[in-house]
Amino acid sequence: MNQIMDGKKISNEIKNEIKQEVSELKEKGIEPTLAVVLVGEDPASKIYVSNKKKACEYVGIRSLSYLLPKETTEEELLSLVQTLNNREDIHGILVQLPLPSHIQEEKVIMSIDPKKDVDGFHPINVGALSIGKKAFLPCTPAGIIELLKRSDISIEGKHCVVIGRSNIVGKPISMLLLRENGTVTVCHSKTVNLKELCQQGDIIVAAIGKANFITADMIKPGAVLIDVGINRLENGKLCGDIDFNDCKDKVSAITPVPGGVGPMTIAMLLYNCVLGARQQGEE
Ligand code: NDP
Repeated sequence: MNQIMDGKKISNEIKNEIKQEVSELKEKGIEPTLAVVLVGEDPASKIYVSNKKKACEYVGIRSLSYLLPKETTEEELLSLVQTLNNREDIHGILVQLPLPSHIQEEKVIMSIDPKKDVDGFHPINVGALSIGKKAFLPCTPAGIIELLKRSDISIEGKHCVVIGRSNIVGKPISMLLLRENGTVTVCHSKTVNLKELCQQGDIIVAAIGKANFITADMIKPGAVLIDVGINRLENGKLCGDIDFNDCKDKVSAITPVPGGVGPMTIAMLLYNCVLGARQQGEE
C-alpha cells in the first residue's frame, strides 16, 4: 500500500507540542522571540515571512518583523543584525533570503550570532552538523528527517539518493541521512548516470527546482519519495520536482506538493526558536 505523507498533519502535531513547550518557558519567565528581517519586496519572500509570522503566533512565539526597503545598504543590514545579536530578549534571528544583489548574503549569514542562527546557515552550525555535534539544523532537512521518522519510515541501512547539492537542502540532508545511518549518494547537474542511481534508491530526496523532473521510470518499485521542490507552473499551480501522478502507484510512500515538506520546514523553524530560547535561558 502506498502512503501519502501528510506534512500538514505532522507539522500540526509538532506545532502543538511546541505550543506546550512555549507555555512552559513562559511560566519560567522566558518569552521565546524571533526577529524576522526582510529586505525588499520579493513577493515569494513576503509570503514566506507572513507564513512564518502566523506560525509563531499560533504557538505563542513572539515575532518581531523588520521590513527594510530594497535600497538598504549592506552596512545598515549588518548593523541591524548586530543590534539583534546584542538583545537578550531575542532568541532567534532570521534574515529572509534571497537578499538584493548589492548585499553579500554570506557576509550577513556570518554576522548572525550562531546561538541565534535558527536557519542553521552559519558555518559554525554547518560545521557542527558535519561532525555530529549539537547545532541548529537547517529547517527543511530537519523537517524531512522528522517527517520520515513520524511516518515510521526507517533510514538505517537504506540507500538514500539525494538529487541536489545546495547549502540549504541537498548538502545538509545528505549529512543528516548519513547521521541516521543511511547510505547516501548525492547527485547534481554533472552526475552522468542519474537515472540508474535513482533506480537504486530506497529513499529519494529531490531538491532540484525542476517541475516533475523525477518520473516513474527513474524509481524502483516500493521506493520512498521526498519532494522538496516548489515550482510554479504556467497555469499558476504549484508542483514539485517529482511527477506525483506518474510515481504515486509505484512507491511505498510519497510527499505531495504542496502539503509535504513545506509545512515541516516552518515547524522546524519554530522548534529551533524554542531551542534557542531554552539554551539562552540556561546560560
Ligand atoms: P538550488 O538551485 O540551489 O539547487 C538545485 C540543485 O539541483 C543543484 O545542486 C543542481 O546541481 C541540481 N540540479 C539542477 N539540475 C539538475 C539536473 N538536471 N540533474 C541533477 N541535478 C540537477 O536549489 P535549492 O536546493 O535551494 O532548492 C531546490 C528546490 O527546493 C527549489 O524548487 C526550491 O524552491 C525548493 N525549496 C523548498 C523548500 C521547502 O520548504 N519545501 C525549502 C528550500 C527550497 P548543481 O549543483 O550541479 O548546479
